[in-house]
Parts: sequence; structure tokens; C-alpha cells
Amino acid sequence: MTRTPLIAGNWKMHKTRAEARAFLEAVRPRDGVDAAVCAPFTALAACLDAAGRVAVFAQNMHEAPNGAFTGEVSAPMLVEIGVHGVVVGHSERRQYFNETDRALQHKVPAALEAGLVPILCVGETEDEREAGDTERKLRHQVQEGLRDVPGERLGDVVIAYEPVWAIGTGKVATVEQATEMHQVVRATLDRVVAPRIGAEVAILYGGSVNAGNAASLFASEDLDGALVGGASLEPAGFWRIVAAAGGTAAR
Ligand code: PEP
Repeated sequence: MTRTPLIAGNWKMHKTRAEARAFLEAVRPRDGVDAAVCAPFTALAACLDAAGRVAVFAQNMHEAPNGAFTGEVSAPMLVEIGVHGVVVGHSERRQYFNETDRALQHKVPAALEAGLVPILCVGETEDEREAGDTERKLRHQVQEGLRDVPGERLGDVVIAYEPVWAIGTGKVATVEQATEMHQVVRATLDRVVAPRIGAEVAILYGGSVNAGNAASLFASEDLDGALVGGASLEPAGFWRIVAAAGGTAAR
């Protein structure tokens, strides 16, 4: 089965509405590669107005549809304004905002049920890699995050393998390291989550991807695209990464 590559730019806490609009007006879609921006809540509506064929993702959501959760935003609220998907379990949310695997067990199915494509982020820290604990960590995060997803919806989830030591550090994983871990994730999907689901799920690599290293990473058939932080803030650089993922310039 062929999985269409996806390049998703994670803007983190960057871009006003005006900046988001200017970015999207500067980019052109490509046929054969899906592109998305993961924008701050305040810029989502502006992105949707200007996005054209670029999908618009949020960077977080609460698992409940509504309730007494001051400061939170729910999946149905995102769907109401037209948002296409949501990043969940990003390492910055796990590290600074106490996002737990338990919360993700609720968030992933809640996103799907509302009609959002969830990008579930998983990845090991530097200490875990050095201790030889990477595979166990990935298996655990994948299994926990997808535990309550109905079997027929598993193929709608996107997973981002993001080694924590590579995020925002300039230390990109080698294509061999990334490929090996994507294979671990696919094998976990097949063995623990559901037989033969590994081939259906798109797995992105994230961690210091830029216009200079993207083509060598995408040479691996196991990488279905990338979640890109810093290098997604400038339209020209982001678009070079999209072009590196293949496809042809749209007319
Ligand atoms: C990210 O934020 O998910 C990320 C991969 O960041 P960067 O590309 O800057 O390492």
C-alpha cells in the first residue's frame, strides 16, 4: 500500500494571525505530498482562511468535549472552525505540561471521534537511548496512546517518531537510526495493536529536519514524511522540505 507523504510544520508558540496568513500566501502546494501547518490556537482561523490545500492542525486539545477545564480547547471546538487535525503527546507537552500516556489514551480516540487526524508523538530521551531503552519506550508509548482506538480507526492515526534529543538541537537522527525506529513502531503496531496495521499507519520523523537534510532522510521508504519545528517557520525552507518529500509542483 502507498502512503502519501505528509510534511507538517509545527510552529509551536510562533506566528500571529498576520504572520500565519503571510506564510500561507507564500507557499504553493505540490501534487503527491500532503502539507500541514500546526498553528497556535489564535492563528487557526486565519490559517484556515488562507490555507488552500495546506491542512491546518492544532498543537493540543483536551480529551473531554466540554467541561470545567479553564484554559483548554476541545476537539469538537476545533472541528467547528474547520481544523483538520491535532498534534498530541509532543515531547514539549509531555515535559513542560505533564501530558501523560493516560491522557493520550483519551485524547487520541476523542480526536478521531470528533473528526480530527491525530498526530501522536513518541520518542526516547538521550538517557533512554544511552541506556538501551529506546525500543521499550517506543513500544510502550505506541501501545498506551492507541489502547482505546477502535480497530477500524487505527489507519487514520499518524505517528511521529521524534527522538527528544533531536528536537530543536540540530542533532538529526541518521537515516539508519530513524528507519530502525520506524520499523520498531510498525512491528509494534502489527504485534501489539492489530495484525497488519503497521503498513497502513503513516509514520513521520521529527527532530531537526531542515531543507539540507530532508532528502537524505526521505530516501528511506519507512519515513512517510516529517514533523518539522524550527525549519517550518520560513516558507521557503518549509517548501524545500515539502519538495524533498517528492511529488510534482501543482499548477
Ligand atoms: C518539533 O517541534 O516537533 C520538532 C521536530 O522541532 P525541530 O524540527 O525544531 O527539531
